This record gives sequence, structure tokens and C-alpha cells, in this order.
Amino acid sequence: MAEVGVAAEDELTAGAPAPDLLSLHETIAGMFAKQGDWRRAYEHLRSALDIARAGSLRDTLTSSYNRRYLDQRLPGLPAARGLAVALIDLDRFKHVNDTYGHLLGDRVLCRVADLLQEELPPDGFCARYGGEEFALVLPGVDAPRAVRIVEAARTRVARHPWSELQPGLRVTISAGLAHASAGPVSAQRQLLRADNLLYAAKRAGRNKVAYHDRETTHVITHSE
Ligand code: GH3
Ligand code: MG
Ligand code: MG
Repeated sequence: MAEVGVAAEDELTAGAPAPDLLSLHETIAGMFAKQGDWRRAYEHLRSALDIARAGSLRDTLTSSYNRRYLDQRLPGLPAARGLAVALIDLDRFKHVNDTYGHLLGDRVLCRVADLLQEELPPDGFCARYGGEEFALVLPGVDAPRAVRIVEAARTRVARHPWSELQPGLRVTISAGLAHASAGPVSAQRQLLRADNLLYAAKRAGRNKVAYHDRETTHVITHSE
């Protein structure tokens, strides 16, 4: 039975363009099922399911996590040791699309996603929230450290050599950072606070990080 399986796999991969791994597992499962080898069919279906599940949590353009992942993970994270959520929005991104085209806009989004994912703490993650917005989630991080991490991300984007991608291109981001240190705080509420702060950063002129410290809203002014 195993030899039949190997032959089937060879047949599938020879000549034609490589099928994606999910389809490959699905097809092989079908072949084993036809032969009545249910155990192997099940194993391949399990593999196909794992790949499909992992894929459903990723954004197809940037490969970062997506909104579904954020919605699943965020409500379960404890605030007791500190939980920071930053909403990040590209500045004047419509202008980038209008000036250089959507294809370049897509490449910018991918590059920004990569830059945001650099230097995250071990449990931290980045998810595409929608359109040109991303969420950075930083569990187990106190407020000053969260500010440093998000400010470093803003600086990384602002200082990136964008003109290598397209002469004249400049890209910046604005961020609203909400920090919780005592539970329970709902994910929805924390996202709403981050969103309000994001608008404060936009209103203050963009390329800035806004966060709330006790009763005051601070906006970090960019130095570039
Ligand atoms: P602001 O600084 O106020 O955020 O200005 P903005 O131009 O970034 O904001 P606006 O909401 O006016 O425009 C967002 C743009 O993002 C419009 C939309 O076409 C673009 N966008 C959203 N998703 C994608 C995408 O997947 N690819 C590309 N290329 N553009 C996208
Ligand atoms: Mg936006
Ligand atoms: Mg924008």
C-alpha cells in the first residue's frame, strides 16, 4: 500500500506545476480512501486540515496574522502582567496608491508588515486589522516598554530606505497605544481606546505615537 502511495505522489508532482501542499494532501487522501486505507487517508486529511487552519489565520497579501487571528487571540490574553494593544495606520496611503499605483501600494503594505514584525517580544504579534491598518499586541509588557516598542516600530518605518523601492517614495505610520495592567479589560474596549488614540496621533500631524498616561494623552513627536 505504501508503494502505491509513493507512486501516487510521484505522479502528482511530475511535470506539472507544483500543486499547493493542501491540495496535494487532499488528493493523496482521496487515493488512499479509494484503496480502503482509511488510516493513511485520515492522516493526509489531518495534514490538509492543519494547513487550511493555519492559512485561515494569515493575511493573504502580507502573510502577517489576520483579523480572525486577532479576534481569536486577544480576548484570551490576561492583562494582569500588562497587555498593550497598538493600532497602526499608514499615513496618507491613498496618496501612495494614487501616485505610484496599487501594485506598489501592495508592496509597501508587505514591507511595513515585515518592519512591524521585527523586534517584537516573544509573545507579541502583528495582525493586519484591515486595509492599511495593523494591530500590534504585546502581552506581558509594562507601559513604558510598550511605548518604546511602538515608537521603535514607527521610527523603523520612517527611516526605511523607501526610495530604493520607488524614487521619491516616503512612508510613515501613526499609532494609538492602549495599555492595560489590571484585569479584566475587554478586547473590544482596548481596541476602541487604541483607535481613539490613533486619531489623536493623526490629528497631531501623523508619523506619531499617541498613548494615554493616567489622565493625560501623550503624543510622541517625531524627530526625523
Ligand atoms: P490617513 O493618513 O488619514 O490614514 O490617510 P490615508 O490616505 O491613509 O487614509 P484613507 O482611509 O483615505 O485611505 C486608505 C487607503 O488605503 C485607501 C485604500 O485604497 C488603501 N488600501 C486599503 N487596503 C489596501 C490594499 O490592500 N492595497 C492597496 N494598495 N491599498 C489599500
Ligand atoms: Mg485607515
Ligand atoms: Mg491611512
